[in-house]
Amino acid sequence: MKPFFAPTPIHPLKETFQHNRFYIKREDLIPLSFGGNKARKAYYFLQDIEKERADCLVTYGSSSSNHCRVIAAIAATKNIPCLIISPSSQNTPTINQQLVETLNAELIFTPLSQVRETIQQTINQLKKSGLHPYFIPGGGHGPHGTQAYVDAYQEIKVVEEEQHLSFDFIFHASGTGTTQAGLICGNHLSNDTKKIVGISIARVAEKGLPVVLESVNDYLEKLLLPPLANEAILFDDHYLAGGYGQFDESIIEMVQKIFIREGIVFDPTYTGKAYWGMMQYLKKHQVENQTILFLHTGSSPLFFDQLQKYRHTRSVRNENQLYRNASAAKNGLGGDR
Ligand SMILES: *Cc1c(COP(=O)(O)O)cnc(C)c1O
Repeated sequence: MKPFFAPTPIHPLKETFQHNRFYIKREDLIPLSFGGNKARKAYYFLQDIEKERADCLVTYGSSSSNHCRVIAAIAATKNIPCLIISPSSQNTPTINQQLVETLNAELIFTPLSQVRETIQQTINQLKKSGLHPYFIPGGGHGPHGTQAYVDAYQEIKVVEEEQHLSFDFIFHASGTGTTQAGLICGNHLSNDTKKIVGISIARVAEKGLPVVLESVNDYLEKLLLPPLANEAILFDDHYLAGGYGQFDESIIEMVQKIFIREGIVFDPTYTGKAYWGMMQYLKKHQVENQTILFLHTGSSPLFFDQLQKYRHTRSVRNENQLYRNASAAKNGLGGDR
């Protein structure tokens, strides 16, 4: 069941750090509600939703999450209700939240400690009123999400063959770990030796790594294959920059730089942090002369939440000699008057 939008494009970047060759896979261009890995995962859930003839969707996530935006969009296009249980502590009016509201999804805020209960109560009530609710785990976590990225891995293989390339590394932002689990399973099933490095954007490795491993081994178990060990999972928590949604000036600068230099939209919470983390990783581990794929997992709306900040960073354009000359000429003109 190849998604209608697959494969997403893979193309080179201008980046040349330490004589590595850089490519990017553009999951941000998936044509469903601003795309991203949540859109790819949702496509797989959608098959199941249709099979089960569900007539309303229930999911969980902060109101600012990309996952909730995409699920709200799916419900809207199917013209069925969407109920989103959200921890009340995270109620900030981000652009994603405004999009969720625009899509007429119903946000149910509840304290973090009561999330589980509230989900169950909501589902029970819907059933009592004669509806067939379908529950989608937060972040699109679970076997459907893993399958989505096993298949995405196959898309990468096809491009390698067509373009006579071989990626040594795949880097990406890792959260619930589903994306990473899918890529690792794809790599494993193909007997490949790519290093799949998840740059953690939220969890410390102690918490995050076992979740990735569990998803991997759940998937392999269904295929009656032996499980992988801890060492097979490269889940790096050195670049958290303080935790989920936290970022510093260097991440903001990275997002601005990529926007100017490559014309690609990153965001400080996921893709910008992961790309910045990847650079630190390459430096620290002295990775040189390799072919590297960065998986752009989406998140365009979060770019706009920080729009004011990019304008206050040291101008990246000043690194460009032509731009400096033009600025000097302009300043010269001003001085003459
Ligand atoms: C959710 C998300 C991730 C993390 O994906 P997981 O499969 O949960 O690890 C990465 N990037 C973006 C933009 C996301 O929205």
